[in-house]
Amino acid sequence: MKIFDYIRPASVTEAVAATAQTGAVYLAAGTNLLDLMKVGVARPDRLVDVTHLPGLDRIERLPDGGFRIGAMVRNATLAYDTGFAEAFPMVSEALLSGASAQLRNAATVGGNLLQRTRCAYFYDVESACNKRVPGSGCDALQGENSGHAVLGWSPSCIATHPSDFCVPLAALDAIVEVEGRDGRRDILLDALHRLPGEHPERDTVLEPSDLIVAVRLPAAAAAFASHSRYLKLRERTSYAFAVVSAAAALHLGAGRIAQVRLALGSVAAKPWRCREAEALLVGAEPTPEAFKRAAEIALAEAKPSGHNAHKIELARRILVRALNEAAAGTPAQIAALPASPFSTMPGALAHA
Ligand code: SF4
Repeated sequence: MKIFDYIRPASVTEAVAATAQTGAVYLAAGTNLLDLMKVGVARPDRLVDVTHLPGLDRIERLPDGGFRIGAMVRNATLAYDTGFAEAFPMVSEALLSGASAQLRNAATVGGNLLQRTRCAYFYDVESACNKRVPGSGCDALQGENSGHAVLGWSPSCIATHPSDFCVPLAALDAIVEVEGRDGRRDILLDALHRLPGEHPERDTVLEPSDLIVAVRLPAAAAAFASHSRYLKLRERTSYAFAVVSAAAALHLGAGRIAQVRLALGSVAAKPWRCREAEALLVGAEPTPEAFKRAAEIALAEAKPSGHNAHKIELARRILVRALNEAAAGTPAQIAALPASPFSTMPGALAHA
């Protein structure tokens, strides 16, 4: 049995100080970390419990119309916050499409950003995995890799980032507030997660004592509220990670696209912002043809990392579908368990 310390600091400052020693990690809801500890993938020497730190459980509307979400806000609490859902419906839609109701009630905003990949070889301590043991190899390269990355991968690691929540956050230029040894700083969410390169063991740009304290959505992101969607393709309708997903948000004016935000999920080690596709669409009419051209550009650099070429076509299709649905208008109500985006009937389990 692995022995570890458990510490419950009274403030953010105390929490940061408590992680100064090697082997210390933050514990939030533990919906990922405790699983990793049970199978021996994570073996911390000290758990610093941040779930009760004062001030991290608030959802605040900022004076300029943006929102600041404390890192310990639970996923379900945020998804069902009426003011937040009205301003950023595709973020609520992404939250509600993740995990199960039980997990959404427990999991935190900060923890969601820092969850580890669901690559099966990462969770199996008998397998070679550069992310778990740097330099050991990557059994996924020649293994079961149908769900692995098609963008931004390297021969060191072909894993994907599993979060739904992070995909619309990347599209909407969310900002992550981090408290570290040198004080507080902001990181654009799109810059938080790393591509693997030669160091897949580092998922993010965070330093060991860095604590995520909040996520901010800028007021400008609310301009997309009436034309935005998050769609997720998965192997079953609930409690499943995405095969691919897409966040699409449009700001329309005079029959044309004034602004657009696009990101793909489960295609890379980070949420994948599609900036070239966005540039193509600005000024264009919101037509299916334009959306198809944008999807071609978004996936132009994609290449299979194994038995996963199908993900490239699925990513194209889900991006086109998300854009078409965003152009039609954000639904007045978002179902807690959306049907497959490729179904033809509400609740049907059709496939692409
Ligand atoms: Fe490990 Fe990455 Fe290879 Fe999976 S893809 S086995 S996480 S190195």
